[in-house]
Amino acid sequence: MIEVNSLQFTYPGSRETTIKGLHFEVGKGEIFGFLGPSGAGKSTTQNILIGLLKNYSGRVRVMGAEIKETGGAYYENIGVAFEVPNFYTKFTALENLNLFRDLYAGDTEAPGALLEMVGLEKEGNTRVSSFSKGMKMRLNFCRAFLNKPDILFLDEPTAGLDPVNARKIKDIIRRERAEGKTVFLTTHNMNVAEEICDRVAFIVEGRIALIDSPRELMVRRGQKIVQVEYREEGIVKEAEFPLKGIGDNRIFSRLLKEKNVERIHTQEATLESIFIEVTGRSLI
Ligand code: ADP
Ligand code: MG
Repeated sequence: MIEVNSLQFTYPGSRETTIKGLHFEVGKGEIFGFLGPSGAGKSTTQNILIGLLKNYSGRVRVMGAEIKETGGAYYENIGVAFEVPNFYTKFTALENLNLFRDLYAGDTEAPGALLEMVGLEKEGNTRVSSFSKGMKMRLNFCRAFLNKPDILFLDEPTAGLDPVNARKIKDIIRRERAEGKTVFLTTHNMNVAEEICDRVAFIVEGRIALIDSPRELMVRRGQKIVQVEYREEGIVKEAEFPLKGIGDNRIFSRLLKEKNVERIHTQEATLESIFIEVTGRSLI
């Protein structure tokens, strides 16, 4: 669905190249995550993919067509949620969605159903000016679905949402995948990447450091450790053992037999710790 080769981009007037040679492909029915800290170039890449920034070099093909050469018809086929919601704040949520819906020539989704999907069904007739940031984000997310697109570009879709609403958004994205939709998702939130992305690209300073499935990364790179907490002479003490070969670890066995063990748990590597290990940067 998406093929990117040697993509470079410099903002007009800027001295520095923002996107420094990206290569990646996204297949149909895949949730592809772009994970990186603020300023890495995630939104810039999304804006190139959706045809907003055309003076790039390299190849960017979406659904077989070079983005530079696409016109307005491209927008009939893609769904976009921008990082910063933009609405007519004096209009209600429904008025906004209806306005954007009218821009499409093809089949569209009923705005009421979309509001219900994100739990805003009671707010349809409320002016957007009185919406909280999280409500605007959810409305922004709805907008991407108006034209029933096969491919979704979602820029930080859970930013500013409480855990319950973030979960709802993640579930919707997964449901879309189950229906064969393709999702390009940018985020600096490792939980989002870990929980819903089939593959994730680590992006730092306009370059991709690695592309892999979060699960594979955690299995391969994750150093699993068993932590044991035990009490000795009234004091809580802690010991750590590698999970690998734990059954033959005599010190571990002796500790279990002889000490007053209170807690045992395994610690997995997080995607964030792998990100730091690979890129030398944190996600903040
Ligand atoms: P991210 O989405 O990963 O946080 P962005 O793509 O927004 O990063 O930004 C990447 C870099 O490009 C940053 O250094 C940012 O300052 C710069 N940048 C973003 N937008 C513009 C612009 N309109 N003009 C010039 N520089 C920009
Ligand atoms: Mg961004």
